[in-house]
Amino acid sequence: MPALRVGARWLVPVSAPPVEGGAVLVGEDGRVVAAGRSAEVPSPAGVATLDFGDAAILPGLVNAHAHLELTALRGLVRDLRFPAWVAALRRLKDALGGEDVRAAARWGVLEGFAAGITATGDTGSSGAAAAALAALGARGVAYQEVFGPDPAQAAESLRGLEEAVAALLPLASERVRIGVSPHAPYTVSEPLLREVVARARERGWPVAMHVAESPEEDQFVRHGAGPFAESRRARGIPVEARGCSPVAWVRRAGLLDVRPLLIHCVTADGDDAVAIARSAAAVAHCPWSNAVLRNGRADLALFRRLGVIVGAGTDSVAAGGGLDLFREIRLAALGCRMTPREMLRLATADAAAALGLAGAGVLTPGAWGDLCVVGFGASALAAAADPEEAVALGAGPADVAFTAVAGRAVWQDGRWPGVDAAAERAALTAAAARARAAAA
Ligand SMILES: [Zn+2]
Repeated sequence: MPALRVGARWLVPVSAPPVEGGAVLVGEDGRVVAAGRSAEVPSPAGVATLDFGDAAILPGLVNAHAHLELTALRGLVRDLRFPAWVAALRRLKDALGGEDVRAAARWGVLEGFAAGITATGDTGSSGAAAAALAALGARGVAYQEVFGPDPAQAAESLRGLEEAVAALLPLASERVRIGVSPHAPYTVSEPLLREVVARARERGWPVAMHVAESPEEDQFVRHGAGPFAESRRARGIPVEARGCSPVAWVRRAGLLDVRPLLIHCVTADGDDAVAIARSAAAVAHCPWSNAVLRNGRADLALFRRLGVIVGAGTDSVAAGGGLDLFREIRLAALGCRMTPREMLRLATADAAAALGLAGAGVLTPGAWGDLCVVGFGASALAAAADPEEAVALGAGPADVAFTAVAGRAVWQDGRWPGVDAAAERAALTAAAARARAAAA
């Protein structure tokens, strides 16, 4: 990995105040050697040097939650209540072939690079995201999903999960971790959840789960009623009222004991938030997806007061958005008293902590040389007095001029170095066309 020195008018380390006239030196091992005032950052001979002028160098953005394998399904399912949306999306995903899903995941990684994203917490069932993250040089945790709403399926689902994880483990590296994701309370039985938690504890697997995402899920768990219950009953799957919230239910099954990533937590109440804080579980907050799917808003202010680790996530682009963490942190800040630095931390240091990615999301010596450079060329960003505020409140993916993972450029001059972008775009377009045909 070649060493790299990047300079710009501003360094925005996120873990400390901005530095005017900043630079970052990344060593051959892909780790930050020095970050600070340019005059104090060495310029060893033979090191590739880039100066971005009126721009800000930030840690690479960390997306706490995505479904990269669904990138070809953007905008295909609209205006349905959440349970029907999930079912429609599932049908479209099943209509795609393996190559379609792989192309979608690769494009998701590339789209992320162009938007400043260097690390992703992905949940998926195909293994395509793990392969894409590994092949394209991204960082992340690929959580292999497991489904099984019928308690009678638990052993079989667990076997399938074990096989899927075993197949993915050869892709594991310092950059890519393999984890597991019992999908959601309405797709996983209690015996299966308990077994997955036990296995995760034994093997040290990172765990992520969609929890407390929608009012319908809450109704399903508490009362054994509503659309999720009806569709289970129609399939002959037993449904019971658990008499508690989704967070309380996953806690009862032991999930909170393995410090999971809890995705959404929109319907989590005060007791749930306290339980999450006490267990040191983390939350992936995806405000755009929650709003578009009409699921509501997670109480970020409450989580922050209780000291819960929260990272911003985009969720899948199928929910109508893009991989735009700038937008997510702005939506997150609504109704929360947050400084621009705190907003930026949601998509960098805090998201990395939520995913357990040590050395990501910061630019301190020894951290990974994952960074993005936000150009201030756009008129709205010109003459910014406070670069943290400019980026947190004004920047978007189109302002990202440069992205590197472990010192290796993955987005530069409007292209992905070493990637056949035309072929990748064609593969994505073919996958999206197949999905559109299935939707028609
Ligand atoms: Zn999700």
